Amino acid sequence: MANQEDIFKKVISHAKEYGYVFQSSEIYDGLSAVYDYGQNGAELKKNIREYWWKAMVQLNENIVGIDAAIFMHPTTWKASGHVDAFNDPLIDNKDSKKRYRADVLIEDYVAKIESKIDKEVAKASKRFGDSFDKEQFLSTNQRVVDYQAKADEILKRMAKSLENEDLADVKALIEELEIACPLSGSKNWTDVKQFNLMFGTKLGASADSAMDLYLRPETAQGIFVNFLNVQKTGRMKIPFGIAQTGKAFRNEIVARQFIFRMREFEQMEMQFFIKPGTQMEWYEAWKEKRMKWHLSLGMGADNYRFHDHEKLAHYADAAADIEFKFPFGFKELEGIHSRTDFDLGNHEKYSGKKLQYFDPEENKSYVPYVLETSIGLDRMFLAVFSNSLQEEELENGSTRTVLKIPAVLAPNKVAVLPLLKRDGLPEVAQKLVDDLKWDFNVDYDEKDAVGRRYRRQDAAGTPFCVTVDHQTLEDKTVTIRHRDTMEQKRVKLSEVKDIISKEVDMRYWLQKIQ
Ligand code: ATP
Repeated sequence: MANQEDIFKKVISHAKEYGYVFQSSEIYDGLSAVYDYGQNGAELKKNIREYWWKAMVQLNENIVGIDAAIFMHPTTWKASGHVDAFNDPLIDNKDSKKRYRADVLIEDYVAKIESKIDKEVAKASKRFGDSFDKEQFLSTNQRVVDYQAKADEILKRMAKSLENEDLADVKALIEELEIACPLSGSKNWTDVKQFNLMFGTKLGASADSAMDLYLRPETAQGIFVNFLNVQKTGRMKIPFGIAQTGKAFRNEIVARQFIFRMREFEQMEMQFFIKPGTQMEWYEAWKEKRMKWHLSLGMGADNYRFHDHEKLAHYADAAADIEFKFPFGFKELEGIHSRTDFDLGNHEKYSGKKLQYFDPEENKSYVPYVLETSIGLDRMFLAVFSNSLQEEELENGSTRTVLKIPAVLAPNKVAVLPLLKRDGLPEVAQKLVDDLKWDFNVDYDEKDAVGRRYRRQDAAGTPFCVTVDHQTLEDKTVTIRHRDTMEQKRVKLSEVKDIISKEVDMRYWLQKIQ
């Protein structure tokens, strides 16, 4: 089996080769951690956004959507805590001059310990065969127990030091663990410093009257400042939610791993306003609801797990991540945060405006608590894309590269292929395209042998191919081929639209989350 790094490289090159993701400004050698979506990528991204929007807004009577501006009044970011606390601890290596996130260096060290545990498990599993009990092994094998204790101890100490802003101890930990610069092997480190992740910019033309602004580092604040506008004009009753998708910007220090960590990215967030004291119920409910959404795409339950936060952000009283098994291991895909009344309360304080809800049942006003679900659209894109890219051994000994994107999200739903470029076949095929294009994105391809065209569509992620041949002229039937099974069926031309609809319509996929 290819190693993780090779698989990830394949994902990146396939994304480029098939028009999904390009490096931004590539002709100028690119811009680090900024990416453009190509003709297929833009469609996949749009479909993921729509799948989320429908699940959150359209299917929930008590959730509405907004579209707030990227620029916000600068006091927003004082109130939200981002000016003071939206920092990453960074450390420089004096020899290689490379900059790292101190917490990431430590987490990578712990990941190495964890991979040693995995190796022990794999070895034991081979030795014991069917009688292997993983849970028992993890809790009784002394070497594994020691590894786990060490990993836990390191993470606990790091969380405590970061919580207490004890950056000297974070550096001490890096030195005690003898962590070396991955590039140079040098252990010659600077002190750990805090680095604010917000991008600054200016509003206004003249130097003295210009106002310092930030590009929003999260979309959530656009929702909080509009809480009353939406509640009043929509006559919303608690509990209710406001959803939004849009760009966010962070000056990430360690920008690597392709579209996993970008400087300009898109978030899909929903803030659910609730009665104080009910947050734990809603926290559990939304964890479950969001996991169901993920599972509805059929990408394998084993690829997801919850990770509860030990170190809570400045605004949260409970937080969990939904992690996904990316090509480089399990990493955060979505966050579910119980944000208490931190944001609305602070906006009240800084704006001097009341941001309260009159609860007719309680006959009193209060600042609502907030439960947030926040997912990165680009990260979801990477999850879908990397999980879908597969190399398959075929019965005849050859291999095929296939992009098994869930049909509901695929950029093109169907490719129409005339078997030959003559005998009137292209005309019939084109007529079918003209009919189908009202419902789906359709590709038309008449170049090369049909087998080659099937492979091309497999690699591009198109779930169906419809082939028009001489028999079509006689009896108005076509061959429909499924990408995933490669099964081919003869069907009536008039049935093609319904057959595809049943497989790609969001209605059928989203019914699984109800
Ligand atoms: P991380 O720990 O990976 O930096 P985070 O905990 O800072 O992420 P949140 O602030 O909770 O992330 O943001 C919510 C979601 O936005 C994340 O779950 C992720 O999917 C997405 N996201 C955050 N930062 C980035 C980024 N730089 N590039 C792409 N997506 C991002």
